Amino acid sequence: MRWGALALILVVAGCATPGVYAPSRVPPARLPAKPAGWDVVLDPGHGGQQVGARGRRGTAEKVVTLDITRRLKRQLEQAGLRVMLTRAGDQTVTLAQRSDLGKRSGAWAFLSIHANAAKNTSASGFEVYYLPDAARYGRGIAYASARSPDASYRLAQLIQREFRRDWPLKDRGIKQARFHVLKHTPIPAVLVETGFLTNSKDEALLNDPAVREEIARRLANALLAFRRQGG
Ligand SMILES: [Zn+2]
Repeated sequence: MRWGALALILVVAGCATPGVYAPSRVPPARLPAKPAGWDVVLDPGHGGQQVGARGRRGTAEKVVTLDITRRLKRQLEQAGLRVMLTRAGDQTVTLAQRSDLGKRSGAWAFLSIHANAAKNTSASGFEVYYLPDAARYGRGIAYASARSPDASYRLAQLIQREFRRDWPLKDRGIKQARFHVLKHTPIPAVLVETGFLTNSKDEALLNDPAVREEIARRLANALLAFRRQGG
C-alpha cells in the first residue's frame, strides 16, 4: 500500500520515470561549480619573444606593460575586484589567446596596456583606443544594453579624464583602431598607449616606478568609476 501511495504521489507530481520509486543509494551529483566570474581582464601587451617597442635606453615595452599591469591588479584587488591577467609573467601569448581569455572571463571590462613607438622621436604622449560596437559586432547587433551603448567608449572617456589633470604626458586623445583585442573581445574593451618609448622624456617617465604606480592608480580610478556606472 505504501508503494502504491508513493507511486500515486509521483504520478500526480508529473514524475513518471521508472526507478524513482526506489530510494537511491547513489549520492546526489555535486552541484556544478560556480562559473568563473571575473570583474576585469588586464592584458599586458607583448611578452616572451615579443618585446614590443624599445627605447633608446633599452626599455622594453613588454617589461613596462607587465609592471604597470601588476601594480594595477594589486590596486583593483585591494578594491575588491577579481582580476584576470592574459599573462602573469614573461610569456608569449597570441592575440587570439588574449581575446579568447577575455571572451570566457565573464568580466565587465578588458584593458590592454601598451607603450608606443614612432619613427619621429618627438612624438610623445598617451592615447586611448576603442572600437565602436557597430564595428565590433556589426550594425544592428548591439552587445551592450540599450542603457549603455558603446560602453567601450565610455570607459575610454573615463580613462582619458583621469589623465587630464596634473599629468606630464600630452593627451593625444581617444582614437579608434581595429586592434585584434578590441575587435575580438566581446566585452567593453579599451587599449591604452601609456607613452612613447621612442621619446626620451616619455621613456624616462615610463622607467620611473613612481610614475608606473601613478598610471596604475589612475587606470584603477577609471575602472572603478566605470563599475559605479554599471559597466
Ligand atoms: Zn604594444
